[in-house]
Amino acid sequence: MSDSIGRLARAFERFPGIGPRQAKRFVYHLLLATSPADRAELAELIGGLGHDVQQCGACYRFDSTEGGVCRSCSDRSRDDSLLMLVEKDQDIAAIERANSYRGRYFVLGGVLTLSGKGAIRERELLRTIEARLERGLNEIILALSATSEGEHTADHLREILAPYRSRVRLTILGRGLATGSELEYADAATLSSAFANRKES
Ligand SMILES: [Zn+2]
Repeated sequence: MSDSIGRLARAFERFPGIGPRQAKRFVYHLLLATSPADRAELAELIGGLGHDVQQCGACYRFDSTEGGVCRSCSDRSRDDSLLMLVEKDQDIAAIERANSYRGRYFVLGGVLTLSGKGAIRERELLRTIEARLERGLNEIILALSATSEGEHTADHLREILAPYRSRVRLTILGRGLATGSELEYADAATLSSAFANRKES
């Protein structure tokens, strides 16, 4: 096998769930069934990932950033008085599809499990809240999945956010979400009503 075929195959083998045979199929697909223009585009997309998509320094999602912040954080038309806390990037996409929330976001980066595992971006969250308070933040919305991990994480957030309660309203999405359901997979109507029916947390 030529060296560049072998090297590319080994690169594909490092992908999740890809074994040596599949890796070689990818290489031969690129070689035999893909046009030079398509190969060039693929190479360009891969090469650009690190430049074009970066983690936002304000909400911690991965997105096209400018000056270190994502498009939604730099959008001046969004409401600075609202901050929604979500588990992961895909949850923001679900909320945006519902098209009923125009505030700011923060990605916790995980949930806490009952057995004490898991981690969230706690220090970063507190720093973001301090910064947002200066820009008129007055409500923090807990938007977690309707699972036991989601509830456990919400309990922990209530504890660490207790010192802000005199200045900020703490709310939680209304349970239009069926128990056990993940936010990411909820449909737009359910999310809109969960947001409209949010209650004091
Ligand atoms: Zn952002």
